[in-house]
Amino acid sequence: MIKFANVTKEYDDGFQAVKSLSFEIEKGELLVLIGPSGSGKSTTMKMINRINPHSSGTITIGGKDIKSYKVSELRRNIGYVIQQIGLFPHYTIEKNIAIVPQLKGWDKEDIKARVIELLEMVGLDPEVHMNRYPKELSGGQQQRVGIARALASNPEIILMDEPFSALDPLTREQLQAELITLHKKLKKTIVFVTHDIDEALKMGDRIAIMKDGKILQLDTPEKLLHDPAHGFVEEFTGKHRIIQNPNLMPVTEIMAETIVTSLPHRSPEKAISLIRQRKITNLFIQDDETKIARYRICI
Ligand code: ADP
Repeated sequence: MIKFANVTKEYDDGFQAVKSLSFEIEKGELLVLIGPSGSGKSTTMKMINRINPHSSGTITIGGKDIKSYKVSELRRNIGYVIQQIGLFPHYTIEKNIAIVPQLKGWDKEDIKARVIELLEMVGLDPEVHMNRYPKELSGGQQQRVGIARALASNPEIILMDEPFSALDPLTREQLQAELITLHKKLKKTIVFVTHDIDEALKMGDRIAIMKDGKILQLDTPEKLLHDPAHGFVEEFTGKHRIIQNPNLMPVTEIMAETIVTSLPHRSPEKAISLIRQRKITNLFIQDDETKIARYRICI
């Protein structure tokens, strides 16, 4: 869907923020770009809608070079959500969401119906919120409007630059979950920049780990955790993340390697003391020397 071929971005001062990047974002996937500050995530994303035009190489969308589009045409077909929300303060919520459909010359009635549909989609009551101004909404509600606005003209692609990083942890988690649901339903191609590895693991179909203007590994969350291609990737994802993301964890990660057994004629006190001593929660009772136990004591 979106293909980078040897793409380099050199800023005016000669600094190469992105170095000969080649990778592909598949149609309908949510691809996360992650890496330390200054690794080139935002630059990579902003080259897609030409906010930061690339210096060399080729970026294509659906096989067509992005340079062959007029910039305004390209941007109208790519939704864009940023951290600072970017709503126009003097426009009502309705007007804010209606901007791109209006530019595209949609019918007034169609725009209104679309605004109502979008507000409902992002969990805001249209009757309550449509005529309000951005400052009358909480940060989380404003960010929902930001998402609704990015979806307004039904673009195939949505770029999200740290969209939730200014939100409190609870609102953030809620919006992450809602975006996952929305993505499953709408099947848009989403490029999502974050510096938060937990967010990346939760959201991404695939994750590109960037450092110094390059992608070190582009893989599924499972592969990144279990098969890091690079020491930096392992360090960045951190082994403990496996425990924090049990959905990404095979059961072998938490399986006890040996089981502790006792014999049927032993007293319960002995069994319990063994459980405490070995810091286990399950003690298996063995029938004889070879047969695996049929009973289990749990505390
Ligand atoms: P990230 O999003 O990963 O934090 P950026 O893509 O914003 O990184 O920036 C990558 C590198 O490019 C950084 O070292 C940054 O200082 C540099 N950079 C960004 N914008 C400019 C600019 N306009 N001029 C020169 N260097 C820039």
